[in-house]
This record gives sequence, structure tokens and C-alpha cells, in this order.
Amino acid sequence: MIQQRQQLWQRTVTAVAAELERLDSPRRAWITEAVTAIARDQQRMHALFLAADGPAACSRCNGACCACGTYHFTLVNLLAYLIEGTLPPLPEFSRPCPFLGPSGCRLPVARRPFNCVIFLCEEIWHNLSEPQQRQARLLEDALRRQYLAFDALFAGSSLRGLLIRAERLQGQALLDAPL
Ligand code: SF4
Ligand code: SF4
Repeated sequence: MIQQRQQLWQRTVTAVAAELERLDSPRRAWITEAVTAIARDQQRMHALFLAADGPAACSRCNGACCACGTYHFTLVNLLAYLIEGTLPPLPEFSRPCPFLGPSGCRLPVARRPFNCVIFLCEEIWHNLSEPQQRQARLLEDALRRQYLAFDALFAGSSLRGLLIRAERLQGQALLDAPL
């Protein structure tokens, strides 16, 4: 199972990189702009997490919610790397989340999956003031809209995660328009 996931990952990254090379300039420009806007809002959401003393809470519970992250990484997160000519860190599918390292998440905040960035558990949520909670709701809504805009354009985009989508598409191009 681990090896199958590793192979699917490699196939998927290679395929998306090749498709991106062939993509026309307007759509490449759209991707650049969209991942920049997502990065900015994810940083804002992370600022709230820090303001709520999130790192201390997460270290007390030993990053428990990262055990659910196997499929969180999306096409959007991959495109944020590829559009700049870089690659994400190699996932390790033997870990509870393939991007969980010895000192926490190996993905920069700007390129973390939507499901990770918007999740503020009860303890962290209650450390936020009401205006901060309102801001967190607005940011979650804005980020959801931004990720869903990719779903409308690219068959491989889904908040369910890149690998689940790649399996479902069975070799169909991930940057094609959705059917
Ligand atoms: S967000 Fe909450 S549940 Fe998740 S690791 Fe941090 S403290 Fe634990
Ligand atoms: S991608 Fe990072 S934040 Fe998300 S579950 Fe994995 S280790 Fe945790």
C-alpha cells in the first residue's frame, strides 16, 4: 500500500509537471495569481493560529490532528510549487501524514493543504477573541472559494486531495477541464 501510494505520487507529479509545461500563458498566469492570493490568505490564517498560542497547544497534544492528513495535499498545493519551477518535499507514506517531519509539518504555511490551514480545534478557537473568530471565518470562506475556483477549471482539483482525484481520473489529464 505504501509503495503503491509512492508510485501514484511520482506518476501524478510527473504528469502534472508535463501538463503545466504545455498549458497556455493565460492559464499559467491565472494559476500564478491564484496561488499567490491563496498563500497570502493562508499566512493570515496562520497569524491567527499563532495569536491563539497554537504551537504550544499542538505540542501538548503532539500534533494529533496531523494523523488524518494522508490525502489532504491538493492539486492547488502542487501547482504552487510547480509554477515556480520547484517540487514539494518527497512524501513519506509510512508516516501518519506523509509531510509530517520530526519537528512538525514539512510544508511551508503558504503551500499547506486547505484542510490543514483552516482547522482550528476547539482549544485554539477559544483562545481567539470574537473579532479574530470573525476574521477566521471570513478567511476560511475566502480560501474555500479560491480552492473551488481551481475545481471549476481543472479535473484534478478537489478538496478531497490530489491522490484520491488522480486515482479517480485513471490517467486522464489532471489539468484538463472537468467533465
Ligand atoms: S490543532 Fe488542536 S487537535 Fe490539532 S494538533 Fe493542534 S492542538 Fe492538537
Ligand atoms: S500537511 Fe502538514 S499540517 Fe497537514 S496534516 Fe500533514 S503534517 Fe499536518
